Amino acid sequence: MNFIEPRTVILLASVMSGLMSLVLYSLKRNYPSSIKGLSEWSAALLVLFVAGLLVAGRGGLPDLVSISVSSFLLWCGLYLAYVGTQRFFGVKPRVAPWMIVISGLSLIQLWFNLVEPNYHVRMALTTVMTACLTGVHAHVIVKQGSVTFSKALAVGVLTFIGAIQVVRLASSFLFSFPANTEFFGTSVIQLIYVASFSFSVLLFSISTVLMATDRLRTELEHLANHDSLTNALTRRQMDEICRAELERCHRHGRSLALLMMDLDHFKSVNDSHGHQVGDRVLVNFVAKVSALLRGPDHLGRFGGEEFMALLPETTLDEAISVAERIREVCAQADQAPYCTVSIGITTNRQDSDTVETLMTRADTGLYRAKANGRNRIETA
Ligand code: GH3
Ligand code: MG
Ligand code: MG
Repeated sequence: MNFIEPRTVILLASVMSGLMSLVLYSLKRNYPSSIKGLSEWSAALLVLFVAGLLVAGRGGLPDLVSISVSSFLLWCGLYLAYVGTQRFFGVKPRVAPWMIVISGLSLIQLWFNLVEPNYHVRMALTTVMTACLTGVHAHVIVKQGSVTFSKALAVGVLTFIGAIQVVRLASSFLFSFPANTEFFGTSVIQLIYVASFSFSVLLFSISTVLMATDRLRTELEHLANHDSLTNALTRRQMDEICRAELERCHRHGRSLALLMMDLDHFKSVNDSHGHQVGDRVLVNFVAKVSALLRGPDHLGRFGGEEFMALLPETTLDEAISVAERIREVCAQADQAPYCTVSIGITTNRQDSDTVETLMTRADTGLYRAKANGRNRIETA
């Protein structure tokens, strides 16, 4: 095994951490500011890069720097990575208690380095602290619910780092090294420990890049599929969903309802209160209707003050009662200005029904509701 030197492994991994810090920094510069945590991740890798250089310099550098300063930086780096993940998921970090713990342990570590040198105690401190930091870090990701490859990778790597700390600590008792064992000793366990830790840091940084990219894709998809003012689905997205749902309902012989909704005399709201108030009426309308719909229903903005709702697995009678509730909620609005709504309803009939025929029929109902005096619902 002596063809691989722990020092070389640490140097290589440190350089990679430094490069990954640059990658994350460039993501921070280029990604939308809504994606948090990138600066902390980048800073964490930079700190780990410096810590690695100091560790690799052991023997050449004073022990104060290569042992005590490097441990302090290692914990700061791991903590910063944890803060990055917390910020990424919108969890508020609690900095003060952690800084107190890290500083306190660093002082104890300093004592067992300079005053009463003891490799065993120092190693126990490092492994326990590292395992704690990776443990809470993995926990914050696990709590985020939905599983993605990038999150699973991050949790896997953090758990692995934590596990090797435990193995390292346990092995030092089992094989009872002398009290001042060389960190760069030739023991296989030491080499495995150094190599796996170093490359886990690299893998973790890759997982952060993947998590940030996943987030960017989700945000872009949301932007592409949702109307920026009201957050209802865009017409294009609604078309796509209607096509898929219609096909599914035909396949299973189920009923599907389409509601076409248009705010009444909306132009006069704009004319008498201004465009901004008009915008707020639209936003409120979407919020109110969304609250009335079920999980599988879809609400989209057809354009201007016209909206459509798609209710899968819904009969005409059920759709009429949903539409009636929407109409009532709009008509009962207590805050001025408000707008009543007219609604045209249709359900799928024959297998030959297409999205276009459904929309045309719902539109006919809407037209009739307008012609019959507005603030009403009509079926077609
Ligand atoms: P009707 O009862 O027949 O539907 O009358 P209406 O006034 O609602 O219909 P009309 O089509 O004449 O006017 C629609 C108005 O909606 C005109 C347009 O300026 C306004 N509008 C469309 N999009 C927006 C928007 O995003 N914000 C605001 N504030 N107004 C909008
Ligand atoms: Mg209108
Ligand atoms: Mg209109």
